[in-house]
Amino acid sequence: MNIALIAHDRKKDDMVALASGFATALSSCTLMATGTTGGRLRNEVGLSVECLLSGPLGGDLQIGARLAEGGVDAVIFLRDPMTPQPHEPDINALVRACDVHNIPCATNVSSARLLLTQLLRDHED
Ligand code: PGA
Repeated sequence: MNIALIAHDRKKDDMVALASGFATALSSCTLMATGTTGGRLRNEVGLSVECLLSGPLGGDLQIGARLAEGGVDAVIFLRDPMTPQPHEPDINALVRACDVHNIPCATNVSSARLLLTQLLRDHED
């Protein structure tokens, strides 16, 4: 199970809390993340995460490219809807890639919990 994790700056604490709650299950998955998000998940949750470029430097696009090639099974993308992002086109491209390839993409904590719960349950079956 390959899971991509991204959180905008004001959502990073939420991502750390979310990942902490699912840490055991997530540790059995292959994880990738944008740079700063991944660093926090490594340091604060102890997860093994491949850190790609930071989002504003192209990390979202890297995840989108992998997804298009079949290398991502789910995306947790905690977006900040209240803050303009310099890389808005990249964000839209990643969400579009999820829709093109029918890959589940959770963009807030509630949907992320549902997605992870179901995905990890399916994975165990
Ligand atoms: P970051 O990127 O994890 O490197 O902060 C996330 C983003 O802003 O898209």
